[in-house]
Amino acid sequence: MNNNTLLKIANDFGSPVYVYDSEKIVSQYKRLTSAFNKVKQLKINYAVKALSNISILKLMHTLGAGLDTVSIQEVQLGLKAGFAPEQIIFTPNGVSLEEIEIASKLGVQINIDNLSILEQFGTKHPKVPVCIRINPHVMAGGNANISVGHIDSKFGISVHQIPHILRIVENTNMHINGIHMHTGSDILDIDVFLYASEILFDTAKHFKDLEFLDFGSGFKVPYSEGDIETNIEEFGTKLSKRFNAFCKEYGKELTLGFEPGKFLVSEAGVFLAKVNVVKQTTSTVFAQIDTGFNHLIRPMLYGSQHMISNISNPKGRERFYSVVGYICETDTFANNRRINEINEGDILCFKNAGAYCYSMSSNYNSRYRPAEVLWHKDQALLIRERETFDDIIKNQIEVSL
Ligand SMILES: *Cc1c(COP(=O)(O)O)cnc(C)c1O
Repeated sequence: MNNNTLLKIANDFGSPVYVYDSEKIVSQYKRLTSAFNKVKQLKINYAVKALSNISILKLMHTLGAGLDTVSIQEVQLGLKAGFAPEQIIFTPNGVSLEEIEIASKLGVQINIDNLSILEQFGTKHPKVPVCIRINPHVMAGGNANISVGHIDSKFGISVHQIPHILRIVENTNMHINGIHMHTGSDILDIDVFLYASEILFDTAKHFKDLEFLDFGSGFKVPYSEGDIETNIEEFGTKLSKRFNAFCKEYGKELTLGFEPGKFLVSEAGVFLAKVNVVKQTTSTVFAQIDTGFNHLIRPMLYGSQHMISNISNPKGRERFYSVVGYICETDTFANNRRINEINEGDILCFKNAGAYCYSMSSNYNSRYRPAEVLWHKDQALLIRERETFDDIIKNQIEVSL
């Protein structure tokens, strides 16, 4: 998507607007699958929460991906997008037994991450195959360190509790068909991930009827130039080799699963916003845009650095700006950033806006959530309308006081 295409989209659909490039999603998917082409049965379950627009889910479906879901609503979205229940895994954290039972009834693969629900579900539904989410307590350090941290993480069942898991399985006679881990941290060091994988393999040996091992996600994508990125090809070669050896040892061809969100969609997305005001203070030049953390919260929530360029003036002299939003709260997108000279009315382009951007947006300040556009085969397809005042007022009830 070049600047002219993006400017035309901002002009045609208004700002702010999210734009996703289908070609980039496809190429990332292919990169991942070819890195693991030595594995006989590979399953990529796209993590819906990263970007949950139904047209994006449909694109994933055409690629042959499955879905990783964390709420019953995401399951429903997946089914509506055309996925078969068997192509969906439900990996929630801390949800009720009822919600898990609803998903299970729909035919979705259940992934349980605590002993209490495991025991209750196994007692009531011993015949339903269940995957177990373990917590290997492995965290990537800033360098090659392997730190056994995360002991108090709310995710997964501790590997130290395997004896308890085994007792529940024996008592209920339930069928465990998969073992899963998702540490949630970026794979910065392949050896750290391989170390965690060994814990998954060790855990798997305790269960005789497994069908798959799910390694979660954590693939890191670059957010700025020179940023560290998971070497997928090297990672694929190393883990595939180890996985194939494990299958031999286990005596059965298992499926290797991943559930990437960011890796598939982050770089495919940009966010376009218009500059309302250029404001000089005694120390700073602010560029104030027609959006805020209501539409893109990652910089304020995680301190994420999204690259920002001025696509209206790409050849302009570079100057320093603080890019901020229009809501009545501090909503800084970038501090003291070098950007081509900004004039009021210019369109700024945020990179890496595919994952956890629209899906985390809100109506704060009673603003409308933006439109979403899919750039597909040289066409701009509107895949979500900008909200209107009706959306703001829809569920509100005016009582007479
Ligand atoms: C969020 C999530 C993912 C996706 O993580 P990314 O960093 O976006 O790849 C995968 N699995 C589970 C269980 C998740 O909660």
